[in-house]
Amino acid sequence: MPRRRTTLLALSGLTAGVLVAGAPATAAAGGSPPGKQPLAVGTGGAVATVDPDATRVGLDVLADGGNAADAAVAAAAALGVTEPYSAGIGGGGFFVYFEAATGKVFTLDGRETAPLAMGAGAFLDDEGNALPFQEAVRSGLSVGTPGTPLTWSRALEEFGTLSLAEALQGGIRLADEGFVVDETFRQQTAENEEKFRRFQPTAELFLPNGALPEVGSVFRNPDLARTYELLAGKGAETAYTGELAEEIVRTAQDPPEAAGTGDVRPGLLDTVDLARYDVPFREPTRIDYRGLEIYGMAPPSSGGSTVGEALNILELFPLSSMPDVPALHHYLEASALAFADRNVYVGDPAYTQVPLAQLLSDGFAAERACAIDPGTASVTPVAAGSPDGQYGPCPAEDRPTAGAGAEGPSTTHLTVADAAGNVASYTLTIEQTGGSGITVPGRGFILNNELTDFTFKAADPTRPEPNLPAPGKRPRSSMSPTIVLDDGRPVLALGSPGGSTIITTLLQTLVNRIDRNMNLAEAIAAPRASQRNTATTDAEPAFIAAYGPALEALGHEFTSVAELGAATGIEYLPGGLVLAAAETERRGGGSAGVVHEVLDTAGGPGTGDPRLAPELGNG
Ligand code: GLU
Repeated sequence: MPRRRTTLLALSGLTAGVLVAGAPATAAAGGSPPGKQPLAVGTGGAVATVDPDATRVGLDVLADGGNAADAAVAAAAALGVTEPYSAGIGGGGFFVYFEAATGKVFTLDGRETAPLAMGAGAFLDDEGNALPFQEAVRSGLSVGTPGTPLTWSRALEEFGTLSLAEALQGGIRLADEGFVVDETFRQQTAENEEKFRRFQPTAELFLPNGALPEVGSVFRNPDLARTYELLAGKGAETAYTGELAEEIVRTAQDPPEAAGTGDVRPGLLDTVDLARYDVPFREPTRIDYRGLEIYGMAPPSSGGSTVGEALNILELFPLSSMPDVPALHHYLEASALAFADRNVYVGDPAYTQVPLAQLLSDGFAAERACAIDPGTASVTPVAAGSPDGQYGPCPAEDRPTAGAGAEGPSTTHLTVADAAGNVASYTLTIEQTGGSGITVPGRGFILNNELTDFTFKAADPTRPEPNLPAPGKRPRSSMSPTIVLDDGRPVLALGSPGGSTIITTLLQTLVNRIDRNMNLAEAIAAPRASQRNTATTDAEPAFIAAYGPALEALGHEFTSVAELGAATGIEYLPGGLVLAAAETERRGGGSAGVVHEVLDTAGGPGTGDPRLAPELGNG
């Protein structure tokens, strides 16, 4: 298919993203963005991502005989092209995998690390005040060692059947041929415009010809295609000890500012940081919830511990027999309690003693559950509990509180299930939407700003703060890739972006599916609220419209936010079917697909088909 470039863009050089206007309507030549489908049911495996091209790339791998690990890496590489502001080789993530052959859940920690030169005061100014957050975001200082290239190669080595070179082919093709710009991509570019203009290679790539990409045009990223080719040829090592590593370090240390900018803080990242970087296996978190086994990501993510603690608390209440309002009241209360503990106790386990087993113990949950009054909302923020193994009927009153932290609203989650029963639940990110805004010149990808997930300054200097920066440390995350087993077999897997709201999106979606009689697509589509131990609860307008007054009568207070999260998930249904689910509306809708479609789900999530919502566990 010949590609037509507009003359000006062709002249703007090879580093520019290339827009093709007015060409015939194929993916490579513009037209309508590919259609999105939030629910699919069938056989042969399933993929759910935020993006139709990435879902298609994953499904192609499955259809060609690849397994869930292969398809997850291939889809992630595709997301690096089509969702470059949320994910890519400049960032990190957590890869959670159920391996059918062993019946075990594994997790790979591809979180970014702080440079060895980074001390506790890295995000303070000369007077000891925290740097303005947005200034820290768009700086070299916020760039941690990218974990994603090594996560991909390790995931393939450990679980896959494809080489990295093979798994990158779909992404290479997409970067080279281009994807059709949709409203979400244009909108996200617009929201980042100011940041992107500060960095010359970023402006050239994502604001070609100085303008926002047009909806319906084709966006190509030949630089990224070549970078993927480099990874395919030389392996992920090139990003840690090879030429790509050197370019990353140079870019973080001396960000390529546009003329007239001059106020970007340089980074501390050095070649030694990349050379010593590793993607370790971590024990997953595991809790039992209504007869199901819920596996999540352990620290440095707070996802598994916080979702797990809240579920342990909720298990003590009969949610499935409650009407919506009391069920949601308990959900909000358990979430506030678990967040209070997360904020005080969770950080990188190599630097702080995280009392993980106690945080996830039934005894601690029972003590924390004492704080829930079925008829009255707690005054938030609530105090943290004492996960010390000594659990009386009720906790003491005088415990510390802590704020919720300031992670951004970006990231992407993809979920893949194959016909053999392997499942990948993979959340990856460059932190903020648009990351640091710093593109590695000539390489087509943006560096993360993950180090802004550190706490810049302890709220209470008399208490230990588990999430201050330190040399080589991983900032605390909220990413919560989750896999649910029933009697050792996978039934459900899901995840979401959304900074610290990831945790509440996971929690609410699990409660919706397991306790509130919704199918997975309905559970994802349902309006969300997020209580993170803050004075008021963030909630989507539809949530406030449906439940606000009744919950306010119990003492809850809501702050309206446009949307929370962008979840994707899969579920194995009885009869050998697999269901893929994605958002209907949030972030412009997601994309669910199966290799062989069996049920007609054109009616959308609320088909009311009971086959889509079999009873899970004893919820
Ligand atoms: N950096 C965030 C975290 O690790 C994720 C960013 C987001 O989803 O907004 O928790």
